[in-house]
Amino acid sequence: MPRLVKTVCSHDCPDACSVLVTVEDAGKSPGDARAVQFRGDPDHPVTRGFLCGKVNTYEQQVYSNDRVLHPLRRCGPKGEGAFKRIGWDEAITAIAGRISLAEEETGGESILQYTYAGTMGLVNRNCPTALFNRLGATQLRQNICYYGADEGYRVTVGSGYCVDPEDAVHSDLVLVWGANVVTTQVHLMPFIDKARKKGARMIVIDPYRNRTAKVADEWIGIRPGTDAALALSLAHILERDELLDRDFIERRTIGFERLSREVLPRFTPAQAAKITGLAEEEIEGLARQLGAASAPLIKVGIGIGRSTAGGGAVRAICALAGVTGSYETLGGGIQYDTGCEFELDLDAVTRPDWLRGEPRVLNMTDIGPALCEWQEPPIRFLYVHGTNPAATAPLQTKVHEGLSREDLFTVVHERFLTDTARYADIVLPAPTFAEYADLYKAYGHLYLQYAERAIPPRGESRSNLEVVQALAKKLGYDDPWFSRDTREHARALLDSSHPNLEGVDADRVLAGETTRLNIPRKTAGFAERFKTPSGKLEFYSARLEEQGLPALIDFTGEREPEEEADNCPLRLLTPPAHSFLNSSFGNLEKARRREGGRPVLMIHPDDSGEIESGDEVEISNLHGSVRLQAQVTTDTNKGTLVAEGTWWPSHGIERRGINTLTSNRLTDLGGGSTFHDNRVALKKI
Ligand code: SF4
Repeated sequence: MPRLVKTVCSHDCPDACSVLVTVEDAGKSPGDARAVQFRGDPDHPVTRGFLCGKVNTYEQQVYSNDRVLHPLRRCGPKGEGAFKRIGWDEAITAIAGRISLAEEETGGESILQYTYAGTMGLVNRNCPTALFNRLGATQLRQNICYYGADEGYRVTVGSGYCVDPEDAVHSDLVLVWGANVVTTQVHLMPFIDKARKKGARMIVIDPYRNRTAKVADEWIGIRPGTDAALALSLAHILERDELLDRDFIERRTIGFERLSREVLPRFTPAQAAKITGLAEEEIEGLARQLGAASAPLIKVGIGIGRSTAGGGAVRAICALAGVTGSYETLGGGIQYDTGCEFELDLDAVTRPDWLRGEPRVLNMTDIGPALCEWQEPPIRFLYVHGTNPAATAPLQTKVHEGLSREDLFTVVHERFLTDTARYADIVLPAPTFAEYADLYKAYGHLYLQYAERAIPPRGESRSNLEVVQALAKKLGYDDPWFSRDTREHARALLDSSHPNLEGVDADRVLAGETTRLNIPRKTAGFAERFKTPSGKLEFYSARLEEQGLPALIDFTGEREPEEEADNCPLRLLTPPAHSFLNSSFGNLEKARRREGGRPVLMIHPDDSGEIESGDEVEISNLHGSVRLQAQVTTDTNKGTLVAEGTWWPSHGIERRGINTLTSNRLTDLGGGSTFHDNRVALKKI
């Protein structure tokens, strides 16, 4: 008889869906059990019985013929993907030997763990860090995704709580700003839809008409990187028309007087129109709607932060919600990231106390230059898991050059032979989320969930925790930490005295119960919880001033990228494609077909010249060139090219991916990545 097993989707997505797997016991032994269907848990308050299109046919991923099922050892040139099967003992012995060699000859800093959110399972994502801390390895600053947006949010309203997505139903105006919710946070949509049924309008502010904009009431097609100018202009109009919430500003904010005197007068609708590329009437119309709304909700996308002015843009948007006073209104305020509210004891899994001294730190966007250029010591041992830098890191040519180094020993723990894995000396087989146990938090809701494995691991795949334990044993580490199983680690994570975990019963969580944090339902915003140094929303940040950074919220324009000097007039955006999640699912031919069969470049008719849809075009800058298939469309604006991804380079034309053209420049705040801030030239092939 088929049975239902509950698990959690581990992909890098805010929704952290609770998943029901239908398992059939095909053979006589438990090892024969097979997952035949994946569907959303109807009892989870946010999953609400459905999964996104990527995961609702997940059995295709689990049983793909392309899965890496055994440890592999390279038997050809790096990058070629020629491997022979080996056993786990041989793999672990070889890896431990190379770690010891690097440690002895060039020190711990010549060892690097390179990882990101390939699994959001808290134990398996984080436990390898403990091993690498123990080794004194180079530390990894995981700045590839959200650091710019996060810092903008943090310095203005403090890290932590934003509007509970379930409260979006109470909004009467939803601004989706720099996000494609239908693709990247689809479980927020039912709450927005419910609000719309009650009369709310949904407006999408984004440089291109993404899938969410297509189902919205209005699309505001802003010029990329100018969001702060629009937010400040909206605040200017609200002040001009006396639609500010003066009482809230007085009680819950600091620095408005200076903003009003020194900044807002410069952002007239006429001036903002010049900067943003929008019509004055569009800006006035948006301000009117904002002024008339009683519970305006702004969904802030992480992507806004991925430009050199990104942190400042998020500050300005948070400030806009401040001048309307919407943080105190049920359904109003900012919906950004709930992840910081899960105040778990992460140190219990990552063990920062095992660090010796202060090893050097690598910003993960610098992996290419680090592999190619770092000395004293050079990186000699690289361990990659939960990420695919050959596809997702900027300066792709350098990344591939670095991975090709013969004196670099690379281990990749993966489910598929990604472009990164093709450069590995040893590939280790990794399980899908149905095949291991873990504890999950979310960054799009407030529920914790623990899941046991739903099916046996395919082939010889092993979880991160199992690999760490095997390596530790081989390296002679006998700390009891290395013998803990997943449940023990999960229990240690839950052993936190933070008020948000008060009343959270670890036993019930570990029994698989979906458990809400101790955060009251239907809170009217979170103005009482601003976690800034002043405890208020800060239009002016003394902390930034101390760091020599602009203290007052403003739009200062973007830093001129060096590519512009090379006659690159067009701006390139690289947002997520609907069928991929970062580079995950790029292995599936079906997903690639849904995305057009090969990488597509959206071009506005005013930029296309003789180019027609379907033509092969080349975009280039000083970092290199990439060929794509043109799609001439008014879904993007003049001057802005859009290449949705992330395609694997090996599936692109000439085996080059879009990150050939992206740079490792950092954001104005937080030192984040700038994937949406690159200039290119365009030509027809
Ligand atoms: S990718 Fe996101 S929306 Fe899709 S199943 Fe996983 S958590 Fe849910």
